[in-house]
Amino acid sequence: MERTYKNCQSCGMPMKRDDHRGTNPDGSRNNMYCHHCFQEGRFTHHNITLDEMKERVRGKLVEFGIPRFMTGLFTRKMSKLERWREHPTAVE
Ligand SMILES: [Zn+2]
Repeated sequence: MERTYKNCQSCGMPMKRDDHRGTNPDGSRNNMYCHHCFQEGRFTHHNITLDEMKERVRGKLVEFGIPRFMTGLFTRKMSKLERWREHPTAVE
């Protein structure tokens, strides 16, 4: 039943290598979330809203040299991720 996601289901960042993945309480790798979002079985920003997460991701993308007007294309898909799908307040 366990599914391994290619992208973090919180921020949408690709998890290409094992060490991009978050960690479970037992130290194993998490299949769903990246190490920025999820460490030792917990969200690193557990009270964050989808909009705040989008803002963080935009900031990161801009840091990587992506023009700000392009970042909306990436963050628009974030409401489909597993972490946010069940929260009706997260609709755009
Ligand atoms: Zn993430």
